[in-house]
Amino acid sequence: MAQDKILTIPLLPLRGIVVFPHMILHFDVGRTKSIKALEEAMVKDQKIFLSAQKDPALDDPGPEDIYPVGTISKVKQLLRLPGDTIRVLVEGLERAKIVEYTSNEPYYEVKVREHPNPKHLVKDSETEALIRQVVSYFEKYAKLSNRVSPDITFTLTTIDDYARLSDVIAANLVIKLEDRQSILNEFSPKKRMEKLLKILVNEIEILEVEKNINKKVRQQIDKSQREYYLREQLKAIQNELGEGNQQQDEEAEEYREKIKQLGLPQDIESKVLKEVDRLSKMHPSSAESAVVRTYLDWIVELPWNTKTEENLNLSDAERILDEDHYGLTKVKERIIEYLAIRKLRNSLQGPIICLAGPPGVGKTSIVRSIAKALNRKYVRVSLGGVRDEAEIRGHRRTYVGAMPGRIIKAIRQAGSKNPLILLDEIDKMSGDFRGDPAAALLEVLDAEQNKEFLDHYIDLPFDLSDVMFITTANYKDAIPRPLLDRMEVIDISGYVEEEKVEIAKRHLIPKQIEKHGLKPSEIKFDESAIRDIINYYTREAGVRNLERQIATVCRKVARLIVSGQKKSVRVTSKNLDKFLGRRLYLFDKANDKDEVGIARGLAWTPVGGDTLSIEVNLMPGDGALELTGQLGDVMKESARIARSYVRSIAEMIGIEKDFHKKYDMHIHVPEGAVPKDGPSAGITLATAMISALTNIPVKRNVAMTGEITLRGKVLAIGGLKEKVLAAHRAGIDTVLFPKDNEKDVEEIPENVVKKLNLIPVSSMDEVMKNALVRFPVPENRNKGEEENKTETHIDIQKAKDEAAVTVEH
Ligand code: ADP
Repeated sequence: MAQDKILTIPLLPLRGIVVFPHMILHFDVGRTKSIKALEEAMVKDQKIFLSAQKDPALDDPGPEDIYPVGTISKVKQLLRLPGDTIRVLVEGLERAKIVEYTSNEPYYEVKVREHPNPKHLVKDSETEALIRQVVSYFEKYAKLSNRVSPDITFTLTTIDDYARLSDVIAANLVIKLEDRQSILNEFSPKKRMEKLLKILVNEIEILEVEKNINKKVRQQIDKSQREYYLREQLKAIQNELGEGNQQQDEEAEEYREKIKQLGLPQDIESKVLKEVDRLSKMHPSSAESAVVRTYLDWIVELPWNTKTEENLNLSDAERILDEDHYGLTKVKERIIEYLAIRKLRNSLQGPIICLAGPPGVGKTSIVRSIAKALNRKYVRVSLGGVRDEAEIRGHRRTYVGAMPGRIIKAIRQAGSKNPLILLDEIDKMSGDFRGDPAAALLEVLDAEQNKEFLDHYIDLPFDLSDVMFITTANYKDAIPRPLLDRMEVIDISGYVEEEKVEIAKRHLIPKQIEKHGLKPSEIKFDESAIRDIINYYTREAGVRNLERQIATVCRKVARLIVSGQKKSVRVTSKNLDKFLGRRLYLFDKANDKDEVGIARGLAWTPVGGDTLSIEVNLMPGDGALELTGQLGDVMKESARIARSYVRSIAEMIGIEKDFHKKYDMHIHVPEGAVPKDGPSAGITLATAMISALTNIPVKRNVAMTGEITLRGKVLAIGGLKEKVLAAHRAGIDTVLFPKDNEKDVEEIPENVVKKLNLIPVSSMDEVMKNALVRFPVPENRNKGEEENKTETHIDIQKAKDEAAVTVEH
């Protein structure tokens, strides 16, 4: 700083610019005071002092408004522009600081002290490191900012003098005026470098953030521009092809109209309308537009707000139910109760009714009547074979060929939001890896959840709370447990012959006569003919085949009448085979005589009950037990239990003690068609064995059912009603059944009970007493000791009971 000089020089205040030494730049000058200063400079040595005003907006800054540190510069060129503006080209020479304002008018003149950059600077290693860092940061800055010409970065490498270097760099930064000024203020080159470094680091950080933001913004803009552009292009192409989109607009408008009429909640409506917008932007024949169109059709056709008015008149309902169906009292009663509650509470809450029973007992048809009685639309949803959750709840629309589930389909079919939906064969549903349909169904049935039922396809909540659900099942045991818990099961176990006759007379025959275009006067069914159809042409718990056979008769009669061969026909048991051909079923009638080793059991089958002969043969051998007749495992076990029991009482009833070592026993159960499993043949097996071993015949008119224990107790069984009816059909008059089942007798039609001798039994003794022609006793006692019989069998049971107690100890 030895060369510090004081200089008097005109001052030109700059607006928004800071000039550094070595910097060449041009700017325009318009203010008179500034022009005067320039003119003065030109007159002298072309030197002028350039210093920035603190506030670029001031037109006439005072000395206090001007930074004291500026640059002595040389004016290299002046160019007069139209108006009073002058364009100046200047080159910065040296730093200087104002020490005094010597004049204010007509221009500012100041005394400045020069602070020239020191010459021949020596660099220590710290400075060198600093310089390198600044240069490298500057290069980075140049790259990021895009505002620095690549030449500059190159030039930097040629500058060795770092005082100058710092000024060149500062001159090329696009930064705030204050920051530039603060660099200019710094007379020490090293300090300047440090300041530069700080500013550069800061700027780079800001630039990087900016760059990121820019990138994001650009991506978004690019995307929407691209789409816009493509869509415009598409429109242009469509117009060229004459496809236009007028049609499409009309379609969209139509959808919008329809949607608005649905009266959907606001949020749902706007969601659907969005789909319409999407559609209107798609190519009308694209695959995707077809998908959206199908979807919209679904939405538009769903009865979001359509209801039928429910008929809650109890006597009306009762009349309709009675008109359509004979019997089924329990179902009818339950429906009337339901109606009464509904009338009082106006809600559908409560368990779902499940009608359980074999096919053809009128489950489906009574539900149809219920719908009629309540004035609800009726829809049947078959659940048989449904394994996939999506069948209930639909597939998501992203899935190819997606469809709504069966519930929504049913609603659309019904066309009202309060139909009666029959969920048929709920027991035939099964879950697998595609999800559990039962769980989905549970949600459908749950009054808490079904207000906002979400079908995957529809994807909008639909209110199912007004829907009345009734389910049916063949076997209630096969209904998934959680579903069963939500339901009230009403058993419809099947009809007895009497009931079937009534149903045929009152409903099936008139229905078929009408269906075949006959007049009631043209065809008459004798009751005996009806009974024969029931007994010999059908074997079922319900009346479906009965109806079918009646239809066959009607068809044939119609033909006779139309062809003029007959004027009217009376169907009797004699001429029945002309219409229906040979008898299809022959009932296992009671045996002709009492036989040894054959006992009659009773079986339950899905189509009602049946009788079951059990035959036992003994052959000399070593105690093998052979079982034939396709027996199930449980029944085989029963046979073993029965044999063990017989062995345990052998001596007491006069059977050879070691019969099991001397004889092979073969048990056969004929009749391939009847499924044979379950424990209920236990006492029959034992009876047949005892009869074979004691040679005492079994009474021909007795049938029995009951599980047996090792100690000869008789345990309860299921399906008593069907079994007793089967026995009745087979012409048997005595039925032995477990005492524990006595309560089930109420279910059996009275007229059948009256005709039969129903004997409850609790032990094998009672079974033997009633089933065998005489009670077996040991040889020695048997001779002339008839009167001891009763006592003897009591003894046996007593002995067994005592044995049981002993074992328990
Ligand atoms: P399910 O659904 O139990 O298999 P359906 O409802 O299909 O049985 O009944 C079969 C036929 O028998 C139908 O035509 C039905 O009208 C008739 N039907 C069944 N039970 C009765 C009844 N109690 N009264 C009148 N018709 C009946």
